[in-house]
Amino acid sequence: MSKFRFIALQEVSQRKPVDVHAPEKEVADYFGSHVFNKKNMQKYLSQQTIDAIDQAVNESKNISLQDADLIANGMKSWAKDNGVTHYTHWFQPLTDGTAEKHDSFFEFSKEGNPIERFSGKVLVQQEPDASSFPSGGLRNTFEARGYTAWDISSPAFIVDDTLCIPTIFISYTGEALDYKTPLLKALMSVDKAATGVCQYFDKNVQKVTANLGWEQEYFLVDSALYRARPDLCLTGRTLMGHSSAKEQQLDDHYFGSIPSRVTSFMKDLEYECYKLGIPLKTRHNEVAPNQFELAPIYEEVNLANDHNQLVMDLMKRIALKHNFNVLFHEKPFQSVNGSGKHNNWSLTTDTGVNLFAPGKNPKGNMLFLTFIINVMVMVFKNQDLIRASIMSATNNRRLGANEAPPAILSVFLGKSLSKMLDKLEKEVVDYKMTPEEKTALKLGIGKIPEILIDNTDRNRTSPFAFTGNRFEFRAQGSSANCAASMIVINAAMAHQLSDFKNQVDELINKNVNKDEAIFRVLKKLIKESKSICFEGDGYSKQWEKEAKKRRLTNINNVPQALLKYEDKASKKVLIGEKIFNEAELESRVDVEMEKYVKKIQIEARVLGDLTINHIIPTAVTYQNRLLDNIVKMKEVFSADEYEQLTCKRRELIKEIQEHIDELKRLVNEMIEARKYANNLPDIRQKAFAYSDKVDIYQDKIREHIDTLEMEIDNELWPLVKYRELLFTK
Ligand code: ADP
Ligand code: MG
Repeated sequence: MSKFRFIALQEVSQRKPVDVHAPEKEVADYFGSHVFNKKNMQKYLSQQTIDAIDQAVNESKNISLQDADLIANGMKSWAKDNGVTHYTHWFQPLTDGTAEKHDSFFEFSKEGNPIERFSGKVLVQQEPDASSFPSGGLRNTFEARGYTAWDISSPAFIVDDTLCIPTIFISYTGEALDYKTPLLKALMSVDKAATGVCQYFDKNVQKVTANLGWEQEYFLVDSALYRARPDLCLTGRTLMGHSSAKEQQLDDHYFGSIPSRVTSFMKDLEYECYKLGIPLKTRHNEVAPNQFELAPIYEEVNLANDHNQLVMDLMKRIALKHNFNVLFHEKPFQSVNGSGKHNNWSLTTDTGVNLFAPGKNPKGNMLFLTFIINVMVMVFKNQDLIRASIMSATNNRRLGANEAPPAILSVFLGKSLSKMLDKLEKEVVDYKMTPEEKTALKLGIGKIPEILIDNTDRNRTSPFAFTGNRFEFRAQGSSANCAASMIVINAAMAHQLSDFKNQVDELINKNVNKDEAIFRVLKKLIKESKSICFEGDGYSKQWEKEAKKRRLTNINNVPQALLKYEDKASKKVLIGEKIFNEAELESRVDVEMEKYVKKIQIEARVLGDLTINHIIPTAVTYQNRLLDNIVKMKEVFSADEYEQLTCKRRELIKEIQEHIDELKRLVNEMIEARKYANNLPDIRQKAFAYSDKVDIYQDKIREHIDTLEMEIDNELWPLVKYRELLFTK
């Protein structure tokens, strides 16, 4: 067997679960111990300073430099009491993952004495040397450097010996270079617009908060096996590999118990997460072998997203301690399920009402229906923008495969709600309603059961499904930063709600009674956009046809999907709601295009290298062995016997030769296509060329390699096989 594969497999066979020193205390005793939360603030800050923080968080008031100094000093004392030596501004550039640059508290005083200090100025703002983060040309256009600024709404925390301060990352002229800045803007927009609509029903509502509960799917692969697969190390997915005879047919992994090495990893992770105030709640096996899922209790979107980013980072590190590598790629293995990251999304008021949950009376239900219908319209009008927000080289390999929603957006509402919408459409009239008509309608609305969670007929094939008290957005990939889609969904919702309010106000100004005005606009909206609702099997071929008839869009090409960020309708939302300016939006699309190009470029190079350096030499070795064998047979057998006995073998030798020749030809063609694409002047042109001319070679090349894998002696095969990657525990 190839030396690397052999060593890797041997290493795995000796693995034992890594001991975890499970805390004896209850979670409540250490939950949030590594977060500068209220409890810790009270020990290190005065009440006055804490009040200033509260006002900054809840009322968007500015923090004075004096207060910042006091906070920084308190933070430092708390951090030092926890063994911290360094601090960092922690931010989310437009790459995958987070960024940090650690500085020590140590500095010289004016008198030249060594001291430890952390000032308000440093807490509030920093200038990381960030010239290598993607900016889509923004920093060139405006000013060379970017800076990070404190996001006071997400508390500071400690990882290892470092105090981490969540920040936004912007250019000197204020253009966003990260995910957090536009996310905060989108959340403010949706707060404002939703509060406006809520006030039709309850004047006491002053604030609406968007919530996010993410479900993170991932694979674990033993580190030794991972290291023996250059494609996994360099691209995050297997570029080749014949499917294993057993995969997920039996569903035995989904229902099975979690392997003990994995349980150790999960316990370790949970402990670290609880200390960081991340409220993990569920863990379980997923459908594919060695695939798992993790989900917390939902939180306000900005904090929830910070926590997701932090968890992904912790998972990578803690997995290594347990001799695993965690795969966040959306499709690491062909022919088994991919990984997504479902976004459970809801809006709640400061009066304690979940706007996506039915109310207790007709009025509450009218509020509920208003929001549900506006979500439906929001998705209908922004199909292309929502798709753009989740499109990437990696997620595109998952979408549309048999376990993931297709690239068509649709909304699932369930039977009771769909019926209610039909009723509204039929019974609401465009003239002044009679008292009888009003009563009938109110009666109908009153009939929505208060709790829908348990009786929504769950549809797991819908990309945007109502699940009783929230919407579950399932098109997002497992490696994504949730902010990308949360920016778009919340901004689009804000835009839709404002639009709705304008229409209602217009009728009210024409002396239509408020309730009637709302009903009429809702009726109109249902009519216009109900074609987005689909209750059937979203994975089926019929749906693709049906969606086409309904004129819903379906775009599978990544660059084409990304361009929709700049559509007229998308700009209305993103620029209209002041989430981005023109330059920011353009640069964001450029960054996404560049990420796409780089990913496909790396994949193509790795595939070329592996084909030429691993696969073809192995094929030649095996071919030689066959040749030796038939040469020897000639010495032993008569001419007639020889012809007959070696006929099949000679065919196989020829077939292997054909694969080798084809592989060489395809790899050469792919290299030429890459050269062509690389020479194009514009990043968008490049992206299209990589999609249309380079990426198309991957499947063709893979097919030859996977056939060779079946033909060649197992002992010779250089790469760890699928059955070993997926079933070694
Ligand atoms: P399932 O696998 O059935 O979709 P899970 O229990 O794995 O459900 O995940 C549900 C996710 O939805 C959790 O993260 C949970 O916190 C979140 N969630 C529950 N209620 C809400 C809500 N009102 N708003 C947002 N997220 C919610
Ligand atoms: Mg789910």
